[in-house]
Amino acid sequence: MRLKDKVALITGGGRGIGRAIAFALAREGARIAVVARTTEQVAQVAAEVTSECGVEAMHAECDVSLKESVEHSCQSVIERFGRVDILVNNAGIAESAPVVKTSDELWERHLAINLNGTFYCTRALLPQMFERGWGRIINIASIAGKTGAPYISAYTASKHAVVGLTRAVALEVATRGVTVNAICPGYVETDMAAQAINNITAKTGKSQDEARDVLNHMSPQNRLITPEEVAALALLLATEEGRGINGQAINIDGGTVLN
Ligand code: NAP
Repeated sequence: MRLKDKVALITGGGRGIGRAIAFALAREGARIAVVARTTEQVAQVAAEVTSECGVEAMHAECDVSLKESVEHSCQSVIERFGRVDILVNNAGIAESAPVVKTSDELWERHLAINLNGTFYCTRALLPQMFERGWGRIINIASIAGKTGAPYISAYTASKHAVVGLTRAVALEVATRGVTVNAICPGYVETDMAAQAINNITAKTGKSQDEARDVLNHMSPQNRLITPEEVAALALLLATEEGRGINGQAINIDGGTVLN
């Protein structure tokens, strides 16, 4: 029970990586708040976390790209649990397009959700972490935050920016008992990867299995990462034992990116 008495807020906690992180932190005793736009999904995760892990959990509707929505849901978590000790900025989208066919809307959507959402949540919750002299901010970036790839310029730009934000804030808060780190996964077995497989199938005529192999082959381990592997790393960063890890952008990708 390494997180007993802690409260964790996970954005995009309704499915995929965010859901796995909610369970990993709850199993160590943290009270959990999950927020996303699809209320039914976060409500379901909160109910399952409580019944399977025996901790209090809540959900709230939140669009992280909207400042007022973030501030409102952060306030509702603080009203219920009194604090947020661990913020996991996980909410994100990934759409592909050649750069010359990238619309203003696609570009702005990526920056608004992936980057601005991370900033709004961080800004809203840091002051109350300072009051207790303890906090953890874990940003789910991507290896697209470390390296380039074709047809995902908006996603790549947004994730590079998240890594930059992580490094800057980590140094700013280093003496306040708060750590700020990014996790940079390669392809992870979630709806997001399923969408990438569907795109490859649609654009190339490959079968689903062949398209999956394209993603597998991007990793030297020839496989996708599981959400539970990402959650295990997030758990380490959330614990007291992880307090020396700060300002890092840690790859979890089987060795695809070596910087
Ligand atoms: P996912 O299964 O599509 O889940 C994304 C979550 O983010 C959902 O709960 C979604 O809920 C939420 N979300 C999206 N837009 C939001 C918004 N505007 N406000 C609040 N919540 C929002 O994707 P995932 O694979 O778990 O991805 C989680 C994170 O990992 C993302 O940041 C992604 O970029 C990153 N990542 C994923 C992979 C991968 O291969 N899967 C690889 C590297 C990094 P609603 O749609 O209901 O709002």
